[in-house]
Amino acid sequence: MKWLKKNDDTSNYEDRRGMSSGRKVAAGGGIGAIIVLALYLFTGQDFSPVMEMFSGGATGEQTTQVDPSRANENEELKVFSLRVFNSANDVWTEIFRQNGSEYRKPTFVTFTDFTTSECGGASEQVGPFYCPGDEKVYMDLNFFHKLASQFQAPGELAIAYVTAHEVGHHVQKLLGTLDEMNKYRGRIPEKEYNELTVKLELQADFYAGLWVHYAVKMGMIELEDGDVESALGAANAVGDDTIQKKAQGYVVPDSFTHGTSEQRMRWFMKGFRTGDFRQGDTFNATTL
Ligand SMILES: [Zn+2]
Repeated sequence: MKWLKKNDDTSNYEDRRGMSSGRKVAAGGGIGAIIVLALYLFTGQDFSPVMEMFSGGATGEQTTQVDPSRANENEELKVFSLRVFNSANDVWTEIFRQNGSEYRKPTFVTFTDFTTSECGGASEQVGPFYCPGDEKVYMDLNFFHKLASQFQAPGELAIAYVTAHEVGHHVQKLLGTLDEMNKYRGRIPEKEYNELTVKLELQADFYAGLWVHYAVKMGMIELEDGDVESALGAANAVGDDTIQKKAQGYVVPDSFTHGTSEQRMRWFMKGFRTGDFRQGDTFNATTL
């Protein structure tokens, strides 16, 4: 992948590398609830013990560890993913404009080990996530090393796919999709709610594909051989069936929250190929 237009703007960027902090944050209510599914992203495990571990107890005290030697950790990955983040915002600004509305940019946060958000504390085990409460995309850059080795999904477009997927969740917040989802939480059987989260996640995958389409069309990037395969490799690696098979040797479809590898790749490709925002309505799709 080649950059034709680099946007290295840092006005929507918060760098917390080298500053690990934990604090008890009330996770109740709508905002905390919705992030649960967003946090679930790549590990396929229950992350709530992880959140507790770094929450610093019930007293609400803040603990911060500063390690200046890690302040510039993964600098190259930071530059690259921030550039993707900025590019995605430029693309969405344009798509919103075309539809007669205004796009509000989220903030990109990089951190090491663990951090706090309006949605609660999170450790790097959680994987990249978006918090609708503070409209921030949280990125532990070491995740990308894991993606390349553990998940066997290396390459720049794999990183870009993950970043653009998280920005996709922000788009869902702006469009009211996350609020809509929240209404169902705890009110419908878990299996049905899981089906809704799959639709939400596949739509974020579609939005990631849409970003690639527009980034090429708007002259921001140029694709090279193997790029699309790299993104598909990541989408494949984070499919619920693939993760469950790897973790426990079998799959439990009712527990899927992000969709199968095949679905994730297909929706990403749909966004990439069509470049048509209207075709991303996974909630009303006849075939998911
Ligand atoms: Zn997601």
